[in-house]
Amino acid sequence: MREFSDNKTEVIVVGGGPAGISAAITIARAGHEVVLIERGSFAGSKNVFGGAIYAQPMREIFPDFEREAPIERLNVAHKYAILSDDESTVISYRHKDVENPSYSVIRGKFDRWMAEQAKKEGVILVEETVVRELLIENEKVVGVKTELEEYFANIVILADGVNSLLAKQIGFRDTIEPKDVALSVKEVIKLNRETINERFNLADDEGCIYELFGGPMLGMLGLGFIYTNKESVSIGLGVGLDALAEKNLKPYELLDALKSHPTIAPLIKGGELLEYSAHLIPEGGYKKLPTLFGAGVMIAGDAAMMVNNLHWEGTNLAMISGKIAGETAVRALARGDFSEKMLSRYQKDLENSFVMKDLKTYRNLMDEAHKRSESFMGYYMREVNGFFKMFTTVESIPKREKFRKFIFDFVKKRNIIELFKDANSAIKLLWSILIK
Ligand SMILES: Cc1cc2nc3c(=O)[nH]c(=O)nc-3n(C[C@H](O)[C@H](O)[C@H](O)COP(=O)(O)OP(=O)(O)OC[C@H]3O[C@@H](n4cnc5c(N)ncnc54)[C@H](O)[C@@H]3O)c2cc1C
Repeated sequence: MREFSDNKTEVIVVGGGPAGISAAITIARAGHEVVLIERGSFAGSKNVFGGAIYAQPMREIFPDFEREAPIERLNVAHKYAILSDDESTVISYRHKDVENPSYSVIRGKFDRWMAEQAKKEGVILVEETVVRELLIENEKVVGVKTELEEYFANIVILADGVNSLLAKQIGFRDTIEPKDVALSVKEVIKLNRETINERFNLADDEGCIYELFGGPMLGMLGLGFIYTNKESVSIGLGVGLDALAEKNLKPYELLDALKSHPTIAPLIKGGELLEYSAHLIPEGGYKKLPTLFGAGVMIAGDAAMMVNNLHWEGTNLAMISGKIAGETAVRALARGDFSEKMLSRYQKDLENSFVMKDLKTYRNLMDEAHKRSESFMGYYMREVNGFFKMFTTVESIPKREKFRKFIFDFVKKRNIIELFKDANSAIKLLWSILIK
């Protein structure tokens, strides 16, 4: 195994998550020396996640991961549950044998596996080391300073996650505002394999993802989730930090409410709590992307706010942005040019990829969602359940009368101005997603 001993290398990558590992392995595969610095005792030890990883972007970095990596389950069932206090409407989609599936994984194991592969391909992995600051000379990033030492490199790639203090140090971004992050809390609950399969209607290593709307999230901008692992389920929720602060709510209280909802409680009944964790999720999207490159430096993944929150996608954006940063570094090394102009290629290539295209498509999502969150995440969720309650209740009232009453109450409760504002927001959003 190679050691990082002479304090000088070609590229330093900060952060051993999906973005950093993808960047580092891309550079090592091109035959360059690259050092990956991770603050945790091993890659993945600090990472919190739902979650699902997606086969197609994973295969771009690890073509054989489906045979080799510690995967929990192949997700075949996707359930979207609209909750109100004690009701739920669940839409369920099931598939098998799709070309590009998703898998549930446990990041502690999975990131560690990815880091091991990176090491096998020549990446010098330095764990249990925190990068405190970036070293700058003549307006170029020339290395990093850890607790103990200074290390120098031609290029530094920042993949240090949502808090990226390093991006802040060099003025790439400001402190994140509470409205641009969600606070997510999660529990891993142990259940045996047969119980999981029975409760979630699965066979063998099939998996199920629940996305949960409304209910305990109290009309705030947020979503809940359940992912099935081999012998545990991950359950959690993420809610905008601004709304939590405004309502003075504790996220674990919301999670407790979610766990005791009548639709959710039977799924986790009798399980043993294995782990509790909390983490921030970037929500600023396209409009809050930081500066992505400068002389001797690029920034990828969560550190660059690259999360598609509507689709719960983050690892794929992290991996592909890391890979593109790695490819840009390889080109720069071939030319011996580490200038801002040379590294601007990173942004150009990102713009041609799904990463930037998707972030751009959803650029107005968070603005509109913030403005109308109580409507979309509260009122309409309750009304969906109200509709099914009306539809499924048999009474000696003529159906036409029931339908008319439902519509009349719906308009009356909401009031026409609010309905107009909701419709306006929805149309603006659809326009920006589908047309321009
Ligand atoms: C609850 C939750 C559920 C999620 N579910 C999903 C999901 O189902 N699917 C999905 O695709 N995404 C999901 N995401 C998002 C996904 O986890 C992130 O987008 C992804 O992990 C980003 O990868 P990254 O490499 O950019 O950052 P991270 O995974 O955060 O990795 C950053 C790494 O940098 C290290 N680090 C930080 N600072 C330093 C420093 N100064 N020095 C050294 N090392 C440092 C950290 O220890 C960490 O290992 C979820 C996120 C949360 C919080």
